[in-house]
Amino acid sequence: MGRQFFVGGNFKMNPCTRDEKKALIKILNEADLDPSTEVVIAPPALYLIPVSEIIRKEIKVAAQNCYFKSSGAFTGEISPAQLVNAEIPWVLLGHSERRTLFNETSEEVAQKTRAALDATLSIILCVGETLEQREAGTTAQVVAAQLQPVINVLKESDWSKIVVAYEPVWAIGTGKVATPAQAQETHADVRKFLASAVSPAVAESTRILYGGSVSAKNCKELANLPDVDGFLVGGASLKPEFVDIVNSKK
Ligand code: PEP
Repeated sequence: MGRQFFVGGNFKMNPCTRDEKKALIKILNEADLDPSTEVVIAPPALYLIPVSEIIRKEIKVAAQNCYFKSSGAFTGEISPAQLVNAEIPWVLLGHSERRTLFNETSEEVAQKTRAALDATLSIILCVGETLEQREAGTTAQVVAAQLQPVINVLKESDWSKIVVAYEPVWAIGTGKVATPAQAQETHADVRKFLASAVSPAVAESTRILYGGSVSAKNCKELANLPDVDGFLVGGASLKPEFVDIVNSKK
């Protein structure tokens, strides 16, 4: 069976007001969306429940992060169990902003992934290299090293609940998108790595998204690459063009 095209919208710490949030959801609720694309949006924690209550049912909601403990004295954190109880089915883990600004290590990302899976959440797992790493020619090794701690804590069957987002750090929020050749090469490398480190079946079935300055202008060419199974979209997910990105295979 083919891999279903997947588009995620990472709102990050936006929108700032409840009215902006409502306007954004209205656009998505009224849009003509390709029914063959799976769509998941990740609003800030504050808006998870209200968004899930008003968003059309085909669009699922993700948290942008979670902790690995289920409850307790962890001020400021949200647990996987709390997300499940709030009927939030997805979580984004390992985003480069969490890795860089909040010093999250790949081992912590692995711990969170294990805890999220144990609580029955589905996961968008982000990996990606910095500009220095790309220029040094180490992209494939960097991404493999980010994936390995997660692989170490997963069973093969867990992979059905994981979508990998390849997001080069130098392309996130910069307007500098990876070329189709760069995206295809790295996606193929990730798939090859999954085949050897997990199994050929997992490599074949796991969706690998591209993220980094995806827009209505560049999405169609990227969407047609053989190993690009969708997108994780930041800035453009706050704009009407997100609809064009969801529909990029149409
Ligand atoms: C992201 O935050 O995951 C992202 C890809 O951002 P942008 O689309 O703005 O580059």
